[in-house]
Amino acid sequence: MKKITVAKGDGIGPEIMDATLRIILAAGAQLEIEEIEVGEKVYLAGNPSGIAKESWDSIRTNKVFLKAPITTPQGGGYKSLNVTTRKFLGLYSNVRPCMSLHPFIRTKHPVMDLVIIRENEEDLYAGIEHQQTDEVVQCLKLISRPGCEKIVRYAFEYARHYGRKKVTCFTKDNIMKQTDGLFHQVFDEIAREYPDIVNEHWIIDIGAAKMADTPEAFDVIVMPNLYGDVLSDVAAQITGSVGLAGSANIGEQCAMFEAIHGSAPRMTGQNTANPSGLLQGAIMMLNHIGQTPVAEKVQNAWLTTIEKGLHTKDIFKEGISTKKLGTREFADAVIAHLGQVPSVLKAVSYDKNTVISLPKYERKALLKKELVGVDVFVQWNGMNPNELADTIRKIETDGIKLTMITNRGIKVWPEGFHETFCTDHWRCRFKPLGDARMTKMDIIQMLTRAENSNLDTIKTENLYTFDGRQAYSMGQGQ
Ligand code: NAD
Repeated sequence: MKKITVAKGDGIGPEIMDATLRIILAAGAQLEIEEIEVGEKVYLAGNPSGIAKESWDSIRTNKVFLKAPITTPQGGGYKSLNVTTRKFLGLYSNVRPCMSLHPFIRTKHPVMDLVIIRENEEDLYAGIEHQQTDEVVQCLKLISRPGCEKIVRYAFEYARHYGRKKVTCFTKDNIMKQTDGLFHQVFDEIAREYPDIVNEHWIIDIGAAKMADTPEAFDVIVMPNLYGDVLSDVAAQITGSVGLAGSANIGEQCAMFEAIHGSAPRMTGQNTANPSGLLQGAIMMLNHIGQTPVAEKVQNAWLTTIEKGLHTKDIFKEGISTKKLGTREFADAVIAHLGQVPSVLKAVSYDKNTVISLPKYERKALLKKELVGVDVFVQWNGMNPNELADTIRKIETDGIKLTMITNRGIKVWPEGFHETFCTDHWRCRFKPLGDARMTKMDIIQMLTRAENSNLDTIKTENLYTFDGRQAYSMGQGQ
């Protein structure tokens, strides 16, 4: 018996959760259910995170959370419960299987069967944003080695446990050489540990186009957070409907399972919602907690139900479907098919060992980190970079000199183009002359001089080498 935390959520949440629980319990899931309240009521009761303290205790004790969709009230100040839960609980891996059910559900891609594994904690979703000048705002894209190692290793382990043959990595490392470059580099490193699984890397733009056009070319695809967020909805939609896909959020200690769709408030209480997305989440949960035979039984019964044309309103099509069922009746139909396997669609047979556990990340030996320069960012409201260069040179010290100015990344000094459009946000790169060494005291001295010259510095970024490797980007056009 495994104790789990369940939240019935808002809108259609309670209806699809009741249907889902009824199916998995009828299939023999050994679960003790502890219910918590999250979402709209909790938000409107004055808790901006949508979840009470005691509910966190339940999730952290039981470590497995099955969550129906919730409604985030309109208006500012309410934090997304999904993002908060993923990050608080360290749920680094978001797993979204997307499979066509041709010819029973209409799709342009009849043989599609892929799994998107999206990094869930970092990238631009760290949510660190600042307005720096009148004209420019910034969002920090953070990619970490532990983050990359955990998600990439998870993708390869997932492939191994679920009999998948290939793992593809999508990044944009031709442009973002440090951040996406690290993700790609770690992918190559870890892929070598899995010689039994094919690996490949695609630049995200052409990879996404290929996925939308020829999804059968892919098996497991691993990618950073933002790309995964966008592409997993695309992948689910092209199987026929976003209403069919479930999602698992996996961490080292806890896990959360859900449908990918929202609370569909307009459908509330009408017994018309499709419970399949949440049911798919629940099947992933059963595999995660080792109740694999039950997961298999439920999935095969669900495939059989779909194959017999017993469909909820959202996927009902004259000529394909045989009967339109309500939420409750659809659940009854799945229960009636428990123990059966589909005859046209491929029956599932999960490996008995679907519990994926990764080695704990261990911090590597520290590298030799050397300060080799500094980028000083300033708000400057002029237009001619040569004038800025003359002004900002006042902050040079004996050994540290201005080497370059960029505007939104493109070099504008020395030898910029007068055609380049410039904002009020400038990066001025300073480096030590010849063999001179610099320290942070040099930077403090430069900033003090800037202050005394009424220069509006907005931030600095230190330029480092790690074990002699240059660890910062060049200016575009440099
Ligand atoms: P939605 O996914 O709730 O609904 C969009 C449309 O999809 C619905 O109008 C309906 O036609 C269809 N649909 C969705 N689920 C269905 C199902 N199970 N069966 C049949 N049809 C279904 O998206 P939305 O309307 O943009 O968002 C509604 C609320 O859900 C918002 O408050 C949003 O913040 C929230 N939301 C929550 C989650 C979550 O909790 N994980 C995810 C997305 C959106």
